[in-house]
Amino acid sequence: MIKIIDNIATTIHENKEYLTELDAKIGDSDHGINMDKGFKMVQEKLHAVKDKDCGTILKTVAMTLVSTVGGASGPLYGTAFLKAASVVSDKKEINKDDIVKMFEEAIMGIKMRGKANKGDKTMLDALIPAYEELKKSIENNETIIEAFDKGQKAAYEGVEYTKKIAAKKGRASYLGERSIGHQDPGATSSYLMLKAIYDTLKE
Ligand code: ADP
Ligand code: MG
Ligand code: MG
Repeated sequence: MIKIIDNIATTIHENKEYLTELDAKIGDSDHGINMDKGFKMVQEKLHAVKDKDCGTILKTVAMTLVSTVGGASGPLYGTAFLKAASVVSDKKEINKDDIVKMFEEAIMGIKMRGKANKGDKTMLDALIPAYEELKKSIENNETIIEAFDKGQKAAYEGVEYTKKIAAKKGRASYLGERSIGHQDPGATSSYLMLKAIYDTLKE
């Protein structure tokens, strides 16, 4: 878990400019800056929780994101990590069912907090298809690595899909139809996180 979070933070850092450029097109040019600020702080706190259970680790991530990431994405990702944490509180080992439940809870948390759904051109357009593919893969008794591979691929397709639709939530919704043609920064950061999880598991 520590390694996964650490790799997510590094991936976000490496894509800081990219995410900010995407946000420049349909938002306020800060998504990469916001996310990098938050995950840099997360990275600094990881050492202190390295022997703790998964719930504590994820809760630390959540609290740090909420308090350091500005903008819409901070509270939304914070909620997602907090909800995922609640599934694995006190657990030092997690199984396939936990993983599905963590994603389910995280998505429900984002939906509840941001009142968005699939097709609104947000992070959910990457996360929901990823969750659906991951769940299907696990139900078909495939390995966790395979499940995350399918999940990250579905997230990538979700990001591509955000180019075709108009934003209905968040800052980009102010542009309405003019947001069509641009990919959503939050969906992109969600994809990058899933890709980082997959890459870590594959190692
Ligand atoms: P801000 O728009 O406040 O500057 P960020 O730039 O950090 O915040 O994040 C923007 C991203 O947040 C969007 O690309 C979108 O994916 C996501 N987002 C915005 N509003 C919502 C919402 N209501 N539900 C889910 N995701 C949202
Ligand atoms: Mg922004
Ligand atoms: Mg902002």
